[in-house]
Parts: sequence; structure tokens; C-alpha cells
Amino acid sequence: MNEAFDTPTETAEEKRSLNFIEQIVENDLKEGKNDGRIQTRFPPEPNGYLHIGHAKAICIDFGIAQQYNGVCNLRFDDTNPTKEDVEYVDAIRQDIEWLGFHWGNIYYASDYFDKLYAFAEKLIMEGHAYVDEQSADKIAEQKGSPTVPGKESPYRNRPAAENLDLFRRMNAGEFEEGAMTLRAKIDMASSNMHFRDPIIYRIIKYPHHRTGNKWNVYPMYDFAHGQSDYFEGVTHSICTLEFEVHRPLYNYFIDLLKTDEYRPRQIEFNRLNLTYTMMSKRKLLQLVKEGHVNGWDDPRMPTICGYRRRGYTPEAIRSFIDKIGYTKYDGTIDVALLEHAVREDLNEHATRVSAVLHPVKLIITNYPEGKVEEMEAVNNPEDETAGIHTIPFSRELWIEQEDFMEDAPGKFFRMTPGREVRLKNAYIVKCTGFQKDENGNVTEVYAEYDPETRTGLPGSNRKVKGTIHWLSANHCEKAEVRLYDRLFTDENPSDIKDKTLAELLNPDSLQIIKDCRIEPFLANAKPGEHFQFQRTGYFTVDPDSKPGALVFNRTVSLKDSWKKEQNK
Ligand code: ATP
Ligand code: MG
Repeated sequence: MNEAFDTPTETAEEKRSLNFIEQIVENDLKEGKNDGRIQTRFPPEPNGYLHIGHAKAICIDFGIAQQYNGVCNLRFDDTNPTKEDVEYVDAIRQDIEWLGFHWGNIYYASDYFDKLYAFAEKLIMEGHAYVDEQSADKIAEQKGSPTVPGKESPYRNRPAAENLDLFRRMNAGEFEEGAMTLRAKIDMASSNMHFRDPIIYRIIKYPHHRTGNKWNVYPMYDFAHGQSDYFEGVTHSICTLEFEVHRPLYNYFIDLLKTDEYRPRQIEFNRLNLTYTMMSKRKLLQLVKEGHVNGWDDPRMPTICGYRRRGYTPEAIRSFIDKIGYTKYDGTIDVALLEHAVREDLNEHATRVSAVLHPVKLIITNYPEGKVEEMEAVNNPEDETAGIHTIPFSRELWIEQEDFMEDAPGKFFRMTPGREVRLKNAYIVKCTGFQKDENGNVTEVYAEYDPETRTGLPGSNRKVKGTIHWLSANHCEKAEVRLYDRLFTDENPSDIKDKTLAELLNPDSLQIIKDCRIEPFLANAKPGEHFQFQRTGYFTVDPDSKPGALVFNRTVSLKDSWKKEQNK
């Protein structure tokens, strides 16, 4: 196996047709709805870091606004103080900006706590809500099933004045958590389970990261989300398919609230699921808390900050999202497609360099001692403007252990006694022998070079089958290289219910190689910079890296299993 030096690029971009969300928006514009105004929002709950699934939501929320001269606001859905934190708020802002999107305003659902509370009181007064003293479990028991109507709460017909008094006392802190809830009084026999007197407020006695101890009651998602959209003037409220069944309730509350024709329109699309990946924030938090990964930005995590650290680019992530598109059908995307998009982008932009991950010494016995030549290396064959850099060549080199074989089969076009191979950007050499230690490990390989074959010289076009990379032993730096593999061994880890999270993990998802060699050109590489280590893969400088102690993450290998699959 002699890997190609570069992966092929894809040519002309295909023009795609409108997705169903764009079609809805264009129709609404054509019909003159909302006076042609387009406003969307991205509504994360600040209870964890953003993952690649959120990137899919971000691309459509911000993308629609961009495409139709609208605005997309960022709204933190901070209605559950026990799980939320400013750490997450800050990280979410950073990740959205890194992905390349700009919000109009930043809002918080907690900005609307006063308005929502007032609306709840109004519903109580109008007989649309009541205080229930049953436990959440009891309420769940009475819900019935889609085919069996629910049972009404014994508190359902309490007089409005009594409900109002109790609700105020709930908020004053007179009752313990779980003692009471406020429920919307809708229809316990509705075919839509969400209409069966949903809980709209619960008691939480925990300081909120923005409102402190002001509130002892907090609205539920269904009582906060649609109203927040309405207060802000959202025209298109785009979310994932699991909220489709909530849409009638979303509309129900807005209809009770609205004073004119305006009403935000909820549109649902299929959420992103990826093979070999767990996406839920709850699971990701568990991975972090139980120490299975080194934080939210561990390069094996499907978080935006994890991918960033690993070396994925915003362009690659956006291109991936664009490729998978938006539909009404749930499914699971092959993670190889994401890797393919990363490779495609890095192929265009990453500077080609040489690094030897598992070094063995190669001595060119007929090359003068003390001589050093600067060999020219093309920075990026995909981009003429990227220029060149030089790489020192001398008598003693490092090559990859796997590029030498003592008894090689006929098709081994690398270093083996008696055969010729080209040293990339340098000379053709012929292997003449090797040395082993007492354990049988090869310690040195010997070769002779042909001075006429220097790359770029007129007589240099003599062909040999294989080309390998190398580094000058006295002109290179040491580096640590971190190789990542899938975090989970199973293709659909979320489907496996009889194993713990720890049991689902791939024990070999991280391999650290301490003693790699890299060319001097990389000595000042900065965290976040991308390179192609020729014949090995794409690598990115890790934030742990320091001059003299460089650390590289393998972003993705060169081989493209996705492309192979497509060409079958
Ligand atoms: P998780 O289920 O991972 O905890 P969530 O839905 O609770 O995620 P939120 O912060 O509430 O996370 O989500 C913000 C927005 O991102 C929502 O509109 C949600 O629909 C969307 N979103 C979350 N996960 C995905 C996904 N896998 N694919 C597409 N959109 C997603
Ligand atoms: Mg959520």
C-alpha cells in the first residue's frame, strides 16, 4: 500500500433546489404575510455545550434569515435554573460565532418571566388554568393513553380566586417543590396528549443564573417557547420533528395571547443523528462528568468545541449540513459523510508537511557527511498560490517503520533490500541493508542515493513505483501526536439499552504517540492551524501545544471510506 499523496477534489458545485422550509418561507413572502418580514431564532437551553445536531438547527435558523433579508436572534431558553449556567451561555455564543453566524439580538426566556406570570394569572382568572395539588406521578398516571381518555384532577374545578391565591403563594415560596403545579385546563379527552391539561408552571427553589431568587415558580417549555416567539415577533419558528405534536398547543397559547393577526409559524424538520455518535446533551454531560472524555472539548466529542479542537473547520461543518439537507423524515447519517466534508475542505486549504510518527533511522551511505540540502516542497498541489517551503535533507534521515520491510512481497513499493524508492522531493535511493538489535527490531536501514535523480533536476524523471516521506534526523523537532478513533464501538449506541455508557465506549478511541518527528517548518505552528501530514492524514495543532512541545490532533485520516462507498 503506497497511499496517494493527496485526495482528489470535487469539481463543480451542484445547484440545489429549495428545501421544504425555504418553500414555505417563499410562499409566505409571496402571500405578503408579516408584511414581508422574516424573523427566526435559535433557542438553545444553556444546559450544555452545542453539538453537531445544533449546528444543523443553527444553519437553517440563521440561513433562512440571511437568505431572505431577515434577522435571526439568539434566545436562551433558560427556564430550568437547576441545570443551567453562564458557562454554557458563553460557550454557546462562542460556538455560533465560530460557525460563522451573527445574531441580531440576544434574548433570554427569563426576560419574559414577568409577562409569562401575568399571562398565567390571566388564564387563571378566565378559567383556563388551575392549581393541582397532586404529585407529578399521579398526574402522569391520569393522563390516559392516545386511545384511552385521561382522568380529570379532583382540583380541576376549583374557583378562580382560590387558584389565583394558591398560585401567588406558590411563587411566594410557601410550598415545597413538587407540592403543587399550575395546569392549563384544556381537554382530558383530547386525542392530542399535550392538550390533556398540561403542567405549565412548577415550583423550583433554586437560584436562577440571571434572576436569582426572584421566582419560586418557573414556566414549562410549552408555556415559554411559543409565547417567547410571540413577544419577540418571530415569523418562522423552526425546530425539530419531536415538537410537531406540540404545535397545536403552541398555537393554542398564542391564540389566547394574541391581539391581532400576527402569529409565529412553527415548522419542524428532521433532527440530525450520526452513526457511532451520541448526541443528547444529557449523555454528553455524563461522558464529561464520569471522566470518559477530557471535557466538553475533547476532540472525540460531537460538540462544536470538540470538533474545533480536533481540527474540523466551520466551512466543513456547514458543507456537511448542506449536503444532508432538511426533510420531514428521521434517519441516521453515516459519520463518514461528515469526515468526507472535513477532508474535502482541508484538502483545499491544508499545507502539506512531513511528519514521521514511528521513526526508524535511514542512512544514505554514499551521501557526504555534514552536507545539508534544502529541498523544495509544494505547500498545496490544489492551490498554486500557496507557494512552497523548504525541507532540509542530509545523510541521516527518519522514515516510518512501516515503510521498511525485510522480506517484502512483490507489491511492496517502499524500502526493502535491493529495491529502489523515491524520497519525496529528494532523490531515488536503493536499499542496501539494515541493522537489527538483539530483540529483532530494525534499528537502522541503509541505502545509496542516485545524485542524478534529485527532484526538479533535468534528469530526475526516472520513475520508480513508490514514494515515501522522510525527515533529516538532525533537522527536525519532536512532537506528540494524538490519534482519535470513534468514541463508541456500536453503530447506533443510543439504541442499546442493556449496556452502561462505559460499556459502549471504544477502548481504543485515543492513542497518544509521544515520540514523533516533524519538519522544522512546523516549529512555530499555532493552535488551530491545519496541516496535511503527507501519506498520514490531516492534523491540527492542539491548544495544549507550546513551542518546543508541540501537540497535534489527527483531524481525519486520508482514506475516505465514504467516497469508496459511493463509487461501488
Ligand atoms: P439535546 O436533545 O441534545 O439535549 P435539545 O433539543 O435539548 O438537545 P436545545 O438546546 O433545546 O437542545 O436545542 C436548541 C435547538 O437545537 C432546538 O431548536 C432543537 O430542536 C435543535 N436541536 C437539538 N438537537 C438537534 C439535532 N440533533 N438535530 C437538529 N437540531 C437539533
Ligand atoms: Mg431542549
